[in-house]
Amino acid sequence: MPEPVNLASKINQRLPTELVRLMEAIGAIAAHQGRQLYLVGGAVRDLLLEQETFDLDLVVDGDAISLAQLLANSTGGKLVVHTRFRTANVHWNEWSIDVTTARSETYDRPGALPQVKPGSLSDDLFRRDFTINAMAIQLSPGLYGDLIDLYGGQEDLKRGLIRILHEQSFTDDATRIWRALRYEQRFGFTLDMETLELLKRDIVMLDTISGDRIRHELELVLKEAYPEKFFLRADQLQVLPQIQPGLKGNDVLSVRFEQARQVSSPNPPPTGLYLALLAYPLTGEQVEQLIERIRLPRPLAQTLRDTCELKTEVTALGAADLRPSHLYSILRGYTPAALMATSLASDSPTVNRNIHRYLTKLRYVRPTLTGEDLKKMGLTPGPRISEILNRLRTAKLDGEVTDRREEEKLVRQWLR
Ligand code: ATP
Repeated sequence: MPEPVNLASKINQRLPTELVRLMEAIGAIAAHQGRQLYLVGGAVRDLLLEQETFDLDLVVDGDAISLAQLLANSTGGKLVVHTRFRTANVHWNEWSIDVTTARSETYDRPGALPQVKPGSLSDDLFRRDFTINAMAIQLSPGLYGDLIDLYGGQEDLKRGLIRILHEQSFTDDATRIWRALRYEQRFGFTLDMETLELLKRDIVMLDTISGDRIRHELELVLKEAYPEKFFLRADQLQVLPQIQPGLKGNDVLSVRFEQARQVSSPNPPPTGLYLALLAYPLTGEQVEQLIERIRLPRPLAQTLRDTCELKTEVTALGAADLRPSHLYSILRGYTPAALMATSLASDSPTVNRNIHRYLTKLRYVRPTLTGEDLKKMGLTPGPRISEILNRLRTAKLDGEVTDRREEEKLVRQWLR
């Protein structure tokens, strides 16, 4: 029998006092109702690893929604209820607190959303993805802080292992394949040997996962500090081509992701930029397949299409003596993320300089005169006005006019 572990002092050290007081208070209220309350999942793992955590998952062996309501009332936090799974979320300051009823899950078929029914804490922990995410901490008074580790999570944390809880885990829910690699790479852990074998066996099960769920996992990967580590591993294990043949996790991708972080610093790179770099090796047809497979929303889909199309412009962009108006006409209309990705993917300093020039200066150039001004100069409303405004922008881009007076002079010449 492993030694009982109490994490009350760790909770006090690592979580802000107001949150600790809140968990104690809610634990006491639940106990008053004859219920047990637990902190579960990633927060327990992160407490043991002494890493920062912002999302708390609470499990109660009773009605989660009324408890979440109490939590929202006492914090002034925002309550969102998900009736299908009888779960609720309270958003409070930078904290997100999920409250769920302890439950067991069964899967009618691989990749389906689970059938859920109330269950014990051990059922609730057994439905989870990996042993390191399947621990709980008691929040009820008297037992407060006691670690509940039914599946060897602590030992796996110590040994740095990602281990599923049962043989059907990846078949039931193949998003766990992505999750396994994400945690493995985030923590520098390794997959337990049997888990690795089952993962390989079940890679085809990724085909049972809906586009929305795969996209959600992809978004989670792109929020990691170093998403390229995931893609390297996913490529090596053939997980990546199962989503879309042609995607590559390799050194080139790693260098580009690192550059994306540098150019975006101090913010993380926008999702579109990472995605465009990931999809860079794809053909136009493969880009369309990927967009459809993961049901990519329109703006991100546009970025991928733009990036693909921009490849055909790289030769033109490599000319050192491009007139600004010509450069403008080549790059006009492409999304900034696609332009940035093209720049990062190109080794040519001229291409980079041209894109930089467009992104930082040329795309903002507008004539000083407006449509209203042109009407005052005698033009009748119609397409001719936008044609003249465009010609004025071209003249301004190429330095042929520099102020309002010169623009007026030019317009008068054109009207003569
Ligand atoms: P992160 O640190 O990435 O936020 P997390 O562990 O908090 O990780 P969530 O995605 O918020 O992860 O999920 C919360 C918990 O729910 C997990 O710790 C895990 O126990 C469980 N869980 C999430 N997704 C699955 C899944 N697909 N299958 C089984 N259990 C899951």
